[in-house]
Amino acid sequence: MCCNSMASDKQVTFVIVGGGIAGVTCAEQIASQFASDDVCLLTASPLVKTVTNFKQVSKTLEEFDVEEQPSSVLEEKYPNLKVIQSAVKLLRAKEHLLQAENGQTFHYKKLCICSGARPKLLTQDNPHVLGIRDTDSAQEFQKRLSKAKRIVVIGNGGIALELVYEVEGCEVIWAVKDRAIGNTFFDAGAAQFLIPSLEVDKKERSLPCKRARYTTDKTGAGQSGATGELGSALGPDWHEGIELRGTEQNSSGVHIEYECEVDKIYTQQEFLQSQLDTNKSELGLWPAYVQLTNGKIYGCDFVVSATGVVPNTDPFLSGNNFELAGDHGLRVDDHMRTSEQDVYAAGDVCTAGWEPSALWQQMRLWTQARQMGWYAARCMAADVLEEPIELDFCFELFSHITKFFNYKVVLLGKFNAQGLGQDHELLVRCTKGQEYVKVVLTGGRMVGAVLIGETDLEETFENLILNQMDLSRYGEELLNPNIDIEDYFD
Ligand code: FAD
Repeated sequence: MCCNSMASDKQVTFVIVGGGIAGVTCAEQIASQFASDDVCLLTASPLVKTVTNFKQVSKTLEEFDVEEQPSSVLEEKYPNLKVIQSAVKLLRAKEHLLQAENGQTFHYKKLCICSGARPKLLTQDNPHVLGIRDTDSAQEFQKRLSKAKRIVVIGNGGIALELVYEVEGCEVIWAVKDRAIGNTFFDAGAAQFLIPSLEVDKKERSLPCKRARYTTDKTGAGQSGATGELGSALGPDWHEGIELRGTEQNSSGVHIEYECEVDKIYTQQEFLQSQLDTNKSELGLWPAYVQLTNGKIYGCDFVVSATGVVPNTDPFLSGNNFELAGDHGLRVDDHMRTSEQDVYAAGDVCTAGWEPSALWQQMRLWTQARQMGWYAARCMAADVLEEPIELDFCFELFSHITKFFNYKVVLLGKFNAQGLGQDHELLVRCTKGQEYVKVVLTGGRMVGAVLIGETDLEETFENLILNQMDLSRYGEELLNPNIDIEDYFD
């Protein structure tokens, strides 16, 4: 097989870049469909992520486990698939040529870029600011936390939510730019439902964990690429098996600062020398100080920056003509094609550039990385075979199943009334400490839902959203807990 040759120039039919969920799913799919063609998976990280225990929960909801495995596992399964651990240095798209850090050059027919994304750090190269992305950075966080009394967490997405919930023995100052926590996933009502969980003592948080478990290779092999920056993104339960404990004996609580962002971060020396109009000695002596846009200043051991991600596009851009989206992702069409011929992209690195279904939106999540990787492989295959292909059904309805604060969370469609303006109404049912159910209706039809807790409503609501039945005549009865809604619509 050409891929195996020691020569530094290789002809390969399919090259996939990235050993995360998108890249591995794409490589597996294409390697099984084109068993007599060479497939190369080039990745910066020594371990690859594979999907196991895949379960289709309903028409669009899916659950799976993710395991980090040595690349040999893939090569044993697909004899035509070669995994090469080396980061891509350069792409010359017009020449269909890719160069890796290890000196090898690949001439491909079809290329799929699945290089993920990296944390958008508040500031670069500040030793007091940490981003969490891969296993390495999670371990660095754990190490720093074990010596910390107070940390400041910036950001309001899934990572920040999990982090403030999991950290114990350390005071957490959590600065969110919105009026409510978890704005990416929830509205203020859901946030209000979840907040008491932050106050419950760790020992009492014993609800069973139902979410997909994330496992890493037990050998503890090096986790990220040579540059130390290119490991694949963690996913659900990234904190499993990592004790997130500070120096304090008791849980030290979470203090939330709403509607603010970071104005400035000072080192201890900068702070002490600053002309700030504040009683410095009252704030205590800390390694770093964070000034928020609401004027408040907090001393802390370090800052966790969890303010979103930036697609890893750098090595691919120079000399090429990629169309980038507003979020800097590689813009792809409904066949996962970038603007460069024969170059596809999937997962966190890409931005969906097609006109989306009224009930779907892109979010950089594990499920979408798998779906896009799989669909990109099918599109590459269809193009090679000159067969037509339609946008996959998984892009019809946004659906995500996860766990926040130990509650099962299901998000469907326009769960936060995204893009609906005033043109919607909400129905909410909430039982404190048990469940929070919200449906989004527009013109009497259900377009989204948030289900927190064991509501057992996901399949019924998914159907109601997909079939766009007019629900006007049911009114609030729709959420009447005394009615078995499944029977209602049978
Ligand atoms: P990645 O998994 O990032 O993989 C990218 C791959 O590309 C890596 O193997 C990397 O080594 C490789 N690479 C990068 N640059 C190069 C290069 N130049 N050359 C060669 N290889 C390269 N999602 C959820 O659905 N639920 C969650 O609860 C959740 N929690 C998260 C918690 C954390 C802390 C983080 C960071 C993310 C979380 N996510 C979650 C998001 C989820 O992990 C990502 O959306 C998903 O992993 C993206 O997969 P991907 O394959 O596109 O990219």
